[in-house]
Amino acid sequence: MYNETLQKQIHRYLQQHKDAAKTFLTRLIQIPSFSGQEQEIMTYLEQAFQNFGDMRHVFLTNALKTDPDYTHKDHEMDHTGQYNLVICKPGQGQGRSIILQAHTDTVPADESYADAFSGKEEHGFICGRGACDDKGGIAVLFLVLKCLHDLGIKLLGNLDVQLVVEEESGGNGALACVLHSPPADGVIVMEATELHIHPSNRGALWFRIQVEGKSVHMGKITEGVNAIEKGIKIIQALRAYEQQLIQESKGYPGFEKYQQPVQVNIGTIHGGEYPSTVAGHVTIEGGVGFLPNKNLALIKQELHQTIQALADPWIQEHYTLDFPKLHNEAFESSFDHPLVTTLKNSCEQIGLRPDVCGLDVSCDARLYAIKGKMPTLVFGPGNIADAHSHHEKVKVDDILLAAEALLGFLIDWCGTGTA
Ligand SMILES: [Zn+2]
Repeated sequence: MYNETLQKQIHRYLQQHKDAAKTFLTRLIQIPSFSGQEQEIMTYLEQAFQNFGDMRHVFLTNALKTDPDYTHKDHEMDHTGQYNLVICKPGQGQGRSIILQAHTDTVPADESYADAFSGKEEHGFICGRGACDDKGGIAVLFLVLKCLHDLGIKLLGNLDVQLVVEEESGGNGALACVLHSPPADGVIVMEATELHIHPSNRGALWFRIQVEGKSVHMGKITEGVNAIEKGIKIIQALRAYEQQLIQESKGYPGFEKYQQPVQVNIGTIHGGEYPSTVAGHVTIEGGVGFLPNKNLALIKQELHQTIQALADPWIQEHYTLDFPKLHNEAFESSFDHPLVTTLKNSCEQIGLRPDVCGLDVSCDARLYAIKGKMPTLVFGPGNIADAHSHHEKVKVDDILLAAEALLGFLIDWCGTGTA
């Protein structure tokens, strides 16, 4: 049972190890780890976590590519040798099991982001690429495991900490873990949620539309068909589709607080060959964000219908629509599930007032919830608005609070014995 003495011990322990958390996080930020280039950070983490439990490698293999939930990229990747790190603490008795997960990869940082890999401290925040997405989450898990280890707290249920690669590019690391690691009674995915609890996530689908036109010299413009102009008609139809999506998703439970939790975005457009040539080809890529009232299959169908409804015979015969890249299903676990209420309670024990609501971005959580069929929520320090930006940061005190909330949660959820 979680008693006051243990609670105080944990609180004191975390305060005493604030500098250790800062040093650890700074070091993590100093190791660049763009998706697909995580080897150095995995080696570092392996050494940093080595005393905290039984270490396992869960390999990504090229066989993953045949899984429907695999995310393909522009350049197909060779996964040989790429792995996730799982630190297992087998339970000491009969208790509920849990997976705590964070991802080790980040989005890139271009040259204009001068401080990307400094890991410097400013006004109580640690700054740099990955600070809140998701190295702050790894720092929380580091503190949690270190505290369990140093204070000799024995959990009754199994605890697996999964440090996974390739979240930013779609979740292939998490996919390998869901397929090749034992399931658990609950999963907490660490992402920047400002310490709010998200048992549901918006989904996201990237699309690619290509239109062939008829390329002629502009002097013969009446004999050509301009693919770029056909593309503009499609973009206008997509803008109207976004309005439809907004209407249909209005007031969806858990997402009421967001101004516009669903989106249709036009991300890139490439077309034409020459200023005086009627454009013979256009490629438009973009994304649709959607709530759990829809799913990937339905969004794909609606995108096709949107283009078909244009009733433009040329477009109908000369367009292709496909979805070769990111395809993250939306998901929702019950807001009343004990996984949610136990974490909410442990947050409140230390003075936090977390909202329980949907998350308006997508992450690895859906793979655990849908493919793994495990109750899953997302929780962690930092603000998602800072992620992927040139001002990425995480508050050190929030790392300690997240660790304290999770330790309280683990003691309630997994149970503790008298060690
Ligand atoms: Zn993330």
